[in-house]
Amino acid sequence: MLAIHAVPAFKDNYIWMIEDGGNAAAVDPGDAAPVERFVAERGLALSAVLATHHHMDHVGGLLALARRFRCETFGPAGEDIAGLDRRLSEGDRIDVPGIALSLETIDIPGHTAGHIALFGGGMVFCGDTLFACGCGRLFEGTPAQMVASLDKLARLPGDTRVYCGHEYTLANIRFAEAVDPGNAALAARKARESAKREKGAPTLPSTVADELATNPFLRCDEPAIIAAAARHAGRALKDRVEVFAAVREWKNSF
Ligand code: ZN
Ligand code: FE
Repeated sequence: MLAIHAVPAFKDNYIWMIEDGGNAAAVDPGDAAPVERFVAERGLALSAVLATHHHMDHVGGLLALARRFRCETFGPAGEDIAGLDRRLSEGDRIDVPGIALSLETIDIPGHTAGHIALFGGGMVFCGDTLFACGCGRLFEGTPAQMVASLDKLARLPGDTRVYCGHEYTLANIRFAEAVDPGNAALAARKARESAKREKGAPTLPSTVADELATNPFLRCDEPAIIAAAARHAGRALKDRVEVFAAVREWKNSF
């Protein structure tokens, strides 16, 4: 049986540790030290490192971990990340070394140009593209690219567990309430996620179904969100990419 653990790093990053009691894989290790502590405390061997995109808060510990544990490293084909053994793009499937998990690569450009998600075992690791009730900033991509990437994630099975790179959920929900105030599922989610944070627990993983019901960036077809985005932009918006772009800009200054 695989277990997934959230190892906190920096202010609000999560390094996802996938382990089977003997071996472990680290997803997006921005820092090596918390991963080293995690495996040492549990007597695990690090057998793989996986990266979703090149930002340092996701790959800062990759090289040190690869050297120390002599484990294989995987990451996006389209990004310049030092120390990658295998460069993955759309459709590439890997057997994660050491653990019984097969993951499929999905290209999801937008936050960065080569960003990938890894999907398998009922889970998706999506870095800084899809957040709980939010999405990443467009540092290297266009709104149209990000909409296409979010669409790919939204089409995964509804019960897919969504492992994001940051604990941004409550701030994202505050913004979602401004965009989508009549959404009862959002109000219910706010109560649920607030209770988790009060206990110091991560709000993640979420599920694709939860995101479809509450994440404004996946709901740019909803009349209430189209209207709110147009109101905020001060003009009519001609399609869902324009709606998405207006909501993303609104969030940037919220
Ligand atoms: Zn990032
Ligand atoms: Fe990040």
